[in-house]
Amino acid sequence: MFLNSLLGLFSNDLAIDLGTANTLVYVKGRGIVCDEPSVVVMRKDNKKVVAVGAEAKRMLGKTPSNIVAIRPLKDGVIADFDATGEMLKYFIKKVHNRRGFVSPRVIIGVPSGITQVEQRAVKDAAEASGAREVYLVEEPMAAAIGVGLPVGEPSGNMIVDIGGGTTDTAIISLDGVVYNKAVRIGGDKMDEAIMGYIKRRYNLMIGEMSTEQIKIDIGSAYDLEASEKRFKDIKGRDLISGIPKTININEDEIREALAEPINIILDTIKVALENTPPELAADIVDRGIVLAGGGALLRGIDTLIRKETSLPVVVADNPLTAIVIGVGKMLDELDMLRRIAIN
Ligand code: ADP
Ligand code: MG
Repeated sequence: MFLNSLLGLFSNDLAIDLGTANTLVYVKGRGIVCDEPSVVVMRKDNKKVVAVGAEAKRMLGKTPSNIVAIRPLKDGVIADFDATGEMLKYFIKKVHNRRGFVSPRVIIGVPSGITQVEQRAVKDAAEASGAREVYLVEEPMAAAIGVGLPVGEPSGNMIVDIGGGTTDTAIISLDGVVYNKAVRIGGDKMDEAIMGYIKRRYNLMIGEMSTEQIKIDIGSAYDLEASEKRFKDIKGRDLISGIPKTININEDEIREALAEPINIILDTIKVALENTPPELAADIVDRGIVLAGGGALLRGIDTLIRKETSLPVVVADNPLTAIVIGVGKMLDELDMLRRIAIN
């Protein structure tokens, strides 16, 4: 008992949010120690890793032909097993190289609805990086715990996690997921919608990184009728002349471009509400819907959902870190972990 708690104190137990856009690592007693994009850059010939994380993201769209930049989880599932494994290994080693004397217990938050084969791949990769015990937990559950919802009580809690590759909607009660639906629509599809709009309307090709920045700077889901409209200069390549050029675009156009993915997210939420057992639905009327994930930062998305559902909607205080914080809390609550871990 004493030895165990002593070991616990010195161990490097880790909690990981393996997201489609960002991977975060939390170390027991230290908090979030790593927060980087889920991107791997590899050589094409021998699959040697050139860069991982923030450094790799800066290379997206700028690599020569013998090098590829991969987002291994792009569509909310593991699109590239090898790259996912390399990335996990890199992050785990980075975090515990400095004081890696006890092989850690690792809890990984994974998108809900990943297949058993994918679960196995994640576990294998973590074990290959020296993990002693690996637990997988579903991200909506982790998000709910991260934002402090009373998941153990017999009452309905609704959480919507809008990530890069997926939007995961879940209703949780008594430490279990009562209803869950993940759609492969999230920040990436929003970016694609903006890219497509600008191409159609202005014959301008813009890159992935620039598009994401447009969404972050002037994107919105609802016209909040701010006194001043936001504008942005956008640089890209003219499709007709082939020459780089700059255009100026306003937030109304971006909102129009985003309508399609946003409506799918909205429909998913409505379907979840329709599928909620009546007693739990009554709880949600009182407690409302909590939004997490980076997409929850899109301006006006809470207002839109509030208007469309007539329910209270709140954005988590730190939507980008809620999941890893939730997984991190489980490092201290092993009983809870055993109840909610997958398998
Ligand atoms: P994942 O869990 O899939 O890794 P995250 O929860 O980390 O995803 O969210 C990443 C997504 O959130 C990206 O698509 C990113 O562009 C988007 N995002 C981040 N900040 C904002 C913002 N201020 N407005 C809109 N989208 C944002
Ligand atoms: Mg996520």
